[in-house]
Amino acid sequence: MPQNPITKYTNEDFPKQFQEQPGIQREMTPIPDCGEKTYKGSGQLKGRKALITGGDSGIGRAAAIAYAREGADVAINYLPVEEPDAQEVKKLIEDAGQKAVLLPGDLRDEDFTRSLIHSAIKELDGLDTLVMVAGEQQAVEDITNLSTEQLVSTFQTNVFSMYWMVQEAIPHLPAGSSIITTSSVEGYDPSPMLMDYAPTKSAIIGFTKGLAKQLSSKGIRVNSVAPGPYWSALQISGGQPQENIPKFGKETPAAPLGRAGQPAELGGLYVYIASEHASYATGHVFSATGGMRAN
Ligand code: NAD
Ligand code: MG
Repeated sequence: MPQNPITKYTNEDFPKQFQEQPGIQREMTPIPDCGEKTYKGSGQLKGRKALITGGDSGIGRAAAIAYAREGADVAINYLPVEEPDAQEVKKLIEDAGQKAVLLPGDLRDEDFTRSLIHSAIKELDGLDTLVMVAGEQQAVEDITNLSTEQLVSTFQTNVFSMYWMVQEAIPHLPAGSSIITTSSVEGYDPSPMLMDYAPTKSAIIGFTKGLAKQLSSKGIRVNSVAPGPYWSALQISGGQPQENIPKFGKETPAAPLGRAGQPAELGGLYVYIASEHASYATGHVFSATGGMRAN
């Protein structure tokens, strides 16, 4: 039986809660649902080797769980302070019978980020799926208060790191590989308080479409996932002002389905894009926004 998407997950007000960036998912109330209890695989990514940035929590964790249950070995990157979340994901991947590789480090550091690709290739004995989910978002209501430090940090994490990873990965990716970026509804319809973050998401959309054309002759597909409002550590660690947290996804911003999404609702989309089912899809942005406009 299909489930009603309106009532499938909570639409209760979320309690206000603040953590320092990047936030630890296991300390959130409620803890986001990343499909730990629900995602069932059917061998769609059997034998694949994936690196997922931001794989400790939220949307990246949902992708990591789904990929492992579909038969992929999975390496995840995250910030060292997120080790408690990452350890949970390691266990979930191993429980699925797959190899789990933990590669903590800061994507704003070019040397680390370039070496991350080579560590993943070494540990996974190859790489055919590069899933870039990591991102930072700090709301600042007035652009005159946006510091250069924050501006640089947001662009390094969200945009520059993609260039460094892709440059290192391309020579090693076999035909049939998939590169997946994570953009946002913000890339199309920016919130006024996200004057650094939203343009990084527009940049990711441009990067995805251009790279898809450049890599098509190698048989490498490049696509993006554009989420709407999803309940995650990103939002409670400065991504939204605290007054927006209770009605997040309901009113601030308002998604037509009347609730925030849960990361579990995206795992299958990341699987689809990487899988053979999507072999004719490249240069696309796949939106799952709860009905918010994203094009
Ligand atoms: P999340 O906090 O669970 O995941 C973001 C991850 O980014 C963190 O877990 C962290 O590991 C990683 N990260 C941040 N800065 C980093 C750095 N300097 N180095 C290495 N890793 C770093 O939150 P999420 O909502 O699951 O976010 C995942 C992606 O989805 C982000 O790109 C975000 O912009 C995007 N997104 C989220 C929403 C939403 O409503 N949650 C909406 C649209 C897009
Ligand atoms: Mg995290």
